[in-house]
Amino acid sequence: MIPDDTLDIAVIGAGLGGAAVAALLNEASFKAHVFDQAPAFARLGAGIHIGPNVMKIFRKIGLEERLSVIGAHPDHWFSRDGKTGAYLSRIKLGDYARKEYGAPYITIHRGDLHAEQVSALPQDRLHYDHCLTDIHEEDDHVVMKFANGKTIRTRLVIGADGVNSLIREKLLGPEKPRYSGWIGHRALLNMDKLRASGLEFERCVKWWWEQSRHIMAYSTKADGSEYYYVTGVPANSWDHDASFVDSSRDEMEAIFGNSHPVVNALINATETVTKWPFWNRDPLNLWSRGRMVLLGDACHPMRPHMAQGACMAIEDAAVLTRCLTELGPGSYRDAFELYEVTRRERATKVQTISNANTWLKEPEDPAWVYAYDATNAALG
Ligand SMILES: Cc1cc2nc3c(=O)[nH]c(=O)nc-3n(C[C@H](O)[C@H](O)[C@H](O)COP(=O)(O)OP(=O)(O)OC[C@H]3O[C@@H](n4cnc5c(N)ncnc54)[C@H](O)[C@@H]3O)c2cc1C
Repeated sequence: MIPDDTLDIAVIGAGLGGAAVAALLNEASFKAHVFDQAPAFARLGAGIHIGPNVMKIFRKIGLEERLSVIGAHPDHWFSRDGKTGAYLSRIKLGDYARKEYGAPYITIHRGDLHAEQVSALPQDRLHYDHCLTDIHEEDDHVVMKFANGKTIRTRLVIGADGVNSLIREKLLGPEKPRYSGWIGHRALLNMDKLRASGLEFERCVKWWWEQSRHIMAYSTKADGSEYYYVTGVPANSWDHDASFVDSSRDEMEAIFGNSHPVVNALINATETVTKWPFWNRDPLNLWSRGRMVLLGDACHPMRPHMAQGACMAIEDAAVLTRCLTELGPGSYRDAFELYEVTRRERATKVQTISNANTWLKEPEDPAWVYAYDATNAALG
């Protein structure tokens, strides 16, 4: 039910960042309503890594244990040469992550993650089928218009509406995200074919070729019953209107064929595979204006090669909630400024390294990413 009077906080977008900020705000006793254009959410065929930095945030909204039961717990992030199989790095996760970084590192199906996040929300404050089409600020509130004909007023708006954010456009003017020059293929594999190969499939491994081409392969379930890969491949252009299109095993074979036997087995077990363009923006010079503020991909989209895009959105959510709690919603300008000052440097650093695609290719200490605790870190 949407109350008739002005809402306290509206979150636009119930994706991974929006669902997180809505849950955190409600947990902190704000009345936050979240609106998404989708009529419902489906279990799209893709996986995601969630680092200990974000599992600590999920602890706060009661999701850490549940996600730990569903997701896979790799002992390492391995990087390997795609032709020879030689190990380029072995980054310790598993028990080491629990001890050193304060929470587990999991890999999980993003549909399973999102379903848990959405079910943790107060259901009467979650509104599907609400596509924001226009938004403007008046004296002491913001007016939001939706494609379903509704007009709703709110004191504050959080734009968690992804890379094509309408709220970003309202703050900074129209500008399409830039095609990054890279695409990714995504596939959940046929487990019978994988098993029939008799080979071992490590729980989290990134295979590398020249020019940073790669396949990141991992389990998406605790019991190892689902295995997934996502690639990164340079491509001159993206000539489709759709957000993704079908690819094929033949295309995978043409790009990655004649590689290490484990890679060949991944390609052989590929039945349905799609390909996606990766979009980018330069760091924004403005994260909020007046009563509207951005988070996640609306604010700092990145190529996904560090597996931290959603993690940054969820860290944003935790810090923004703390700033609003500490300064009070009446001091929203100061709270938004404190949020930006706290988040800008870290989000930009992750965006830069992610785009460069160097993360964990060689031995390095990932503590600055994984040990960070957005629920406790100094603000400002
Ligand atoms: C191939 C690939 C692999 C990735 N792997 C990882 C990984 O392993 N780990 C990781 O942390 N990140 C990963 N990422 C990045 C991650 O997916 C994004 O950073 C993350 O989804 C951003 O979350 P968000 O909430 O900001 O935006 P989104 O998840 O895009 O959510 C935006 C929401 O807003 C809604 N919306 C948009 N416009 C409107 C509107 N006008 N009105 C109402 N609703 C609207 C949409 O329906 C959507 O639900 C990966 C990305 C890709 C492409």
